[in-house]
Amino acid sequence: MSLGYDDTPTIPESVYKVHDGDRPQPKVVTPIEWSQENFYMLPPSDAVVLFDGTDLSGWTKKGDESTPAGWKVENGYMEVVPGTGDIQTKELIGDCQLHVEFASPEVVKGDGQGRGNSGVFLMGKYEFQVLDCFDNPTYSDGTVGGIYGQYPPLVNSSRKSGEWQTYDIIWEAPKFDETKLLSPARVTILLNGVVVQNAKVLQGPTEHRITTKYVHHDAKLPLSLQDHGDLVRFRNIWYREIGEIK
Ligand code: MG
Repeated sequence: MSLGYDDTPTIPESVYKVHDGDRPQPKVVTPIEWSQENFYMLPPSDAVVLFDGTDLSGWTKKGDESTPAGWKVENGYMEVVPGTGDIQTKELIGDCQLHVEFASPEVVKGDGQGRGNSGVFLMGKYEFQVLDCFDNPTYSDGTVGGIYGQYPPLVNSSRKSGEWQTYDIIWEAPKFDETKLLSPARVTILLNGVVVQNAKVLQGPTEHRITTKYVHHDAKLPLSLQDHGDLVRFRNIWYREIGEIK
C-alpha cells in the first residue's frame, strides 16, 4: 500500500511528487525530555499571549470575524470540536517567534493523515503540520514538523500519542510590493526542542495535492489552527514580534 499519492505533480526543483509515498521517511529521534505532569513554560516578558488556557476571546471562526471560535476550552487547553471549522486569531501577525503546545488524542484512532491531524497555519496560509506521527507512517511531506506538501521534517521528534508537544517556529513572512514577490517566506522550526526545519524557504502557500505559487497578501494576517475532525488539543500559545535593531 502506498503511503501517499502517485497522481500528483512533481514539486519544482525536486525529484518527488507532492505527497509522494516514496519520499524517504524522516528518521525517528527521541526529543528533549521533560515531565509531562509539571512542565509548563511561561512566556517571555515581551510575548503577546494568544491563548493562556482560559478562553477563546482572542479567536474567531476562520474567515468569519463575526462568529466566535467553536472549539471548547477546559483544564487549561482548547480542543477541536469537529465540524465547527478552523479558528483564527484576532491578532494580526507578521514576522515572529511563535510558541504552540499541542497534544493528539491519547486514545489512538485512525492512521496516516487520519490520526490526530490539525495544523498551525501562519498567516492562515502556510501550514506546519500537526499529526500524531508516533509510529504512524504517512507521506513524508505531510508528517508533523513538515511544511505541508513541500518539505518533510529533517527528523521525526514526535512524542508519544496524547503527550504534550512543543512547536517553536521562527517565521519570516513573504514580502510583496504592489505587483510582485520581493522575498519568499522562510521558516525555522523546532519540534520538542529538535530542529526539524532549518531556514527553509517556502515555495508558496501550502496546498493539498497540487504545487503552489505566491499570491500577494498583507504583511500581517491572523494565525489559524485547523479542524481536521480529530480531537487535537492546544495550549500556551504566544508569539514575539521579530524585527531588526535599527
Ligand atoms: Mg493538517
